Amino acid sequence: MKPAPFVHHAPRSVEEAVAVLGEVGHDGKVLAGGQSLIPLLSMRLASPGHLVDVNGVPGLDTVEVSDGHVRVGALVRHAGLERHDGAHAALPLLRRAVRNVAHPAVRSRGTSVGSIAHADPSGEMPAVAVLTGAVVEVVGPRGPREVPAGDFFVGPLETTLGADELVVAVRFGCFTPGTRTAFLESARRSGDYALAGVAVALGTDGDVVTTATASFVSVTPVPDVLDLAPALAGHPLADLPLDAAAELARAHVDPETDIHASAEYRRMLATELTRRALREAASDRPDHVEGAA
Ligand code: FAD
Repeated sequence: MKPAPFVHHAPRSVEEAVAVLGEVGHDGKVLAGGQSLIPLLSMRLASPGHLVDVNGVPGLDTVEVSDGHVRVGALVRHAGLERHDGAHAALPLLRRAVRNVAHPAVRSRGTSVGSIAHADPSGEMPAVAVLTGAVVEVVGPRGPREVPAGDFFVGPLETTLGADELVVAVRFGCFTPGTRTAFLESARRSGDYALAGVAVALGTDGDVVTTATASFVSVTPVPDVLDLAPALAGHPLADLPLDAAAELARAHVDPETDIHASAEYRRMLATELTRRALREAASDRPDHVEGAA
């Protein structure tokens, strides 16, 4: 099937893009990498009358590492973020997660910010955004505003973004020195959406865990942060009570049954992946690389 007819807009600045979005309102959609939107149009699951193609807007394709965050522009492709050594040095969880997004062809075109704007609970980047305390930078007709990732996602494919607003960048927060992270997921085939996935972060003081958090892929309706400190804080990295932490994950996730897997199977996967991710993080070197910025 082909998309329904639409008007293609090619703004040359953020201001122009926002002006067009304001004019067309709910009949418009931002087009970034097109890796989620174009399939929806082709299947006629969405039929906007106007596509606001931001690929020609300068200044949106940079990754900046500074002041304890990694700022990813709206036109940075998943593959560009995956390859960015500065971003990896400052926040290794980014590469660990983004290399699980689809396969190389999709990663070469799809944007990491588009993935967050799309708010698919099966996406890797929304889970990373909440775990790192990311800030979503938005520009609309009333000017710029910043939204904490925890307030951005309100439901599957649903955010607090207005129809006349553009996400220009997402600032992922770097963890404090000594934090260890891991990202694990399970999919039926390499490159498929995950049946379940988890990102974990262990803050440490020496070899003792001080903070412990996790966020999930494909098993919660909205990406959120689970506090694992009640199970793990105060324990040495070499001897973590992983069963207690995994039990917290099991109780937290709320998966659905679909054609790919039952809810119970996904819950079991999320529980076991949490246990393994924590073990991996505990045995890993700390994420922070001194002087990386
Ligand atoms: P688009 O498709 O252009 O847009 C998606 C939505 O977000 C649209 O509603 C659009 O209006 C909105 N949007 C995009 N950018 C902005 C912006 N800057 N401001 C406001 N709104 C915006 N993703 C995963 O996370 N994990 C996977 O395993 C995975 N597997 C995939 C497999 C296949 C075969 C395909 C085709 C896609 C897969 N994806 C997967 C989706 C991919 O990651 C997309 O790149 C991503 O979801 C959306 O990014 P995009 O730049 O392509 O956005």
